[in-house]
Order: sequence, then C-alpha cells, then structure tokens
Amino acid sequence: MIQLRSTTKVALIGTGFVGSSYAFSLLNQGVVNELVLIDVNKEKAQGEASDLNHGLPFSSAMKIWAGTYQDCHDADIVVITAGANQAPGETRLDLIDKNIKIFKSIVGEVMASGFDGIFLVATNPVDILSYATWKFSGLPSERVIGSGTILDTARFRYLLGQYFSIDPRNVHAYIIGEHGDTELPVWSHTSIGSRPIQKCIKNKPEMPQELDRLFINVRDAAYQIINRKGATYYGIAMGLVRLTKAILGDENSVLTVSTLLNGYYGLQDIYIGVPAIINRNGIREIVELELAEDEAAKLQHSANVLKQAMQPYF
Ligand code: NAD
Repeated sequence: MIQLRSTTKVALIGTGFVGSSYAFSLLNQGVVNELVLIDVNKEKAQGEASDLNHGLPFSSAMKIWAGTYQDCHDADIVVITAGANQAPGETRLDLIDKNIKIFKSIVGEVMASGFDGIFLVATNPVDILSYATWKFSGLPSERVIGSGTILDTARFRYLLGQYFSIDPRNVHAYIIGEHGDTELPVWSHTSIGSRPIQKCIKNKPEMPQELDRLFINVRDAAYQIINRKGATYYGIAMGLVRLTKAILGDENSVLTVSTLLNGYYGLQDIYIGVPAIINRNGIREIVELELAEDEAAKLQHSANVLKQAMQPYF
C-alpha cells in the first residue's frame, strides 16, 4: 500500500545570510512542516536551528533541525544558498570558479541520498549554477529552478511603484536575462495599475530618462547594498519563500526564474531568467513574451555573456 506523506519538507543547504533569512521567513510564513538545515559549518547550522526553534512558541508548528545530506532523501524541495558571496567590487560572474566546485560536491551528496524532488538554487552566479545543478543531478529541467531575476523583478516593481505612487503589487513588470550586469527591463510589457507604461509617460518628456536611471538602480542595487552592509539577503530570502509557496501550493504563478531554454526566445541550452509558470511539478511552462527588437537583442547579448562565462566548465 502506498504511504501518503502529509508533511512538506524543505532541506536548506547553506545557512549564511541568505539561507538563515530564508529559514526565518519560512518560519514566519508557516510554509512547511519540516525544515532541515545543512552547512559545511555544522556549528552554524546548529546555532541557526536552535535560534529558529526558540521562535516556535510564537509561530505555527514546525520541525527544524540541523541535519545531514541523508535528510534530503524525502525532501520536497532542496534549496541551495551555499557558497561564496560577492565581496565589494566583485561581480556575480567572478564567483563561478569557487562555487561550481562547491556545487559539484553538494549536488552529488543530495542525489546520493535518493532525493527526487525539486531543486531551488540561489547561489551566484545563479544562472550558471542552476545549469550546473541540472547537469550534475540528472533531474528533468522542470525540477531544477534558479531564483533568476525574481529579486531584480521585485526591485523593479518596488521602484516603479514608488515612482508612480502605485502599490508595487499593481505593477506588472519583468526583468529578464542574466541575474547580473547584463539583465534588462521589458518595458514593452510593463503596466502600472493596468495602464501600459507608454501611456503613463506620454507627453512627459523627462520620464524616459528618469526611468532609465530607475532601471540602473535596479541593476546595480546589489552593489549599492553590499557597499553599505556587506551582503543582500532579505529580498532574495522572501523571493525564495514566494517560489517555495508557488511550488508547494501548486499555484501556477508566473514568476521570473532561471530555467532551461531550448528554443524559447531563440536561445539554446542555457539557464537564464524569464517568466515561467510554477506549480507542484516545478516549471509548468515558459512564458514567451513578444519582445521589442532592442529587448530581444539585449537578451541575446546577456545569453552570449553567460555562455562565454560557462564555456570553460561545460
Ligand atoms: P554567506 O557566506 O553568508 O553564507 C554561505 C554559507 O554557505 C556559509 O554558511 C558557508 O558555511 C556555507 N557553505 C560554503 N561551502 C559549503 C559547502 N560545500 N557545503 C555546505 N555549505 C557550504 O553567503 P550569503 O550572503 O548567504 O550568500 C550565499 C549565496 O547567495 C552567494 O553566492 C550570494 O552571491 C548569493 N545571493 C544570491 C542572490 C540572488 O538573487 N540569487 C541574492 C543574494 C545573494
């Protein structure tokens, strides 16, 4: 007889700034029943588990512990936030060499546990490490998802909301491409409170330039935050929780993630950020936006930069 599991379980690999913020956010939002924390620094994982457990009297029931890779075998989702982060002045692509080695061992250990769920990757450079996770794991690509431009899209919607004095939840806008310096805004599909942005800026000659500056602030947000406080973590942690909920709740939500493109947007064999429909099976479908000519060219450039960076490794 099949034994039905009614629990939902996340295994989190990497309990640094991003991982521990994600764990805290999961606990606050009551998303899963079980959370296992794994880190090469076992003391850190144990410390985080204790600290989080002490919040349980104020939240919904949940089992949280510091574990080992064997605990991944029945996890619904393995979230990877382990690895080096950007030092001031470093780009995300500068991290590839260090983090790809770490990923080979992490993904190998997770798969050796018998894991058969969905990977969610946030470590940078996230597009390339999502591709690496897909290759190293042998899982179907719909079950290996990178956080991609989910955070950049959130930053974009927040700043547009501020600029037009509209709740960011009523701003529809996407950042696509590399989660990094070559990402791009899709102005052709941006709407503010249901009105196309082209209508909002009509007869306002100062606006196009201001909006270009707004995008630069989105693109360079991580550099600005890292210079000020050393790392960024709350925004991405909440983005990862949003993805966890979309998966476990079988939501069919459209979110900008890093996913394998083979033909969509004219791109082949690459993980890159685009909108996709997410549900209990992972990526249900990629949303192919009809891009303006300059947007399509920028996306192609972004893909070329990623391909060049990953070429020595695959
Ligand atoms: P951090 O240094 O605070 O934490 C990294 C953790 O990984 C540490 O606890 C470390 O012990 C652990 N670790 C290292 N090697 C490991 C291994 N082999 N196995 C298990 N654990 C290991 O870094 P952070 O600020 O939490 O950032 C983590 C990653 O997330 C970085 O690559 C960073 O660039 C990335 N990040 C991504 C986004 C995004 O939008 N995708 C946003 C912010 C940060």
